[in-house]
Amino acid sequence: MAAVFGAYPLFDRAAAPVVLAVGDALDTSPDPAGSTGVAGGELPDGTATLDDDLPAITGLDPELREAVRQAAADAAADDIDFWITSGWRSPAFQEHLFDEAVRTKGLAEARRKVSTPEKSNHVSGKAVDIGPTEGDYWLIEHGTDYGLCQAYSNEIWHFELLTEPGGTCPPMLDGAAG
Ligand SMILES: [Zn+2]
Repeated sequence: MAAVFGAYPLFDRAAAPVVLAVGDALDTSPDPAGSTGVAGGELPDGTATLDDDLPAITGLDPELREAVRQAAADAAADDIDFWITSGWRSPAFQEHLFDEAVRTKGLAEARRKVSTPEKSNHVSGKAVDIGPTEGDYWLIEHGTDYGLCQAYSNEIWHFELLTEPGGTCPPMLDGAAG
């Protein structure tokens, strides 16, 4: 089931999933064809909430988005607020991030810290980066209630749906960045 971008209130639980109507795409729709910038998943202010109508958010897998939304609501009840620091990314944006890392850190370090477009689960909409740190710690402690798991041992902020709600997370991967 494809996500719809912009035509429906995305975070209204009552709204049934609907098929993406390509012709109806708004300016804020993700551009899988290869944009960088906001259309490619960049967050103009560095962070976003799940309610923002930005490609980084609307491009996420709806199941992941709902899990994070429920977790955020429960965290708020614990007086912990967290938000998305990176969500869906176009292949071009991911490539840009990788190229930037190569330029600033060198190839070996870049490979440890940034995935390629082929490997990154941000590109498939199945990964979110969460901040601030106290939000990361809350999710590390409580994320399995929602099926959310820290995927990489070197990234406390990167979460994916890797188990059933109440399940057990698989062992974290080392070094391979998301
Ligand atoms: Zn990540």
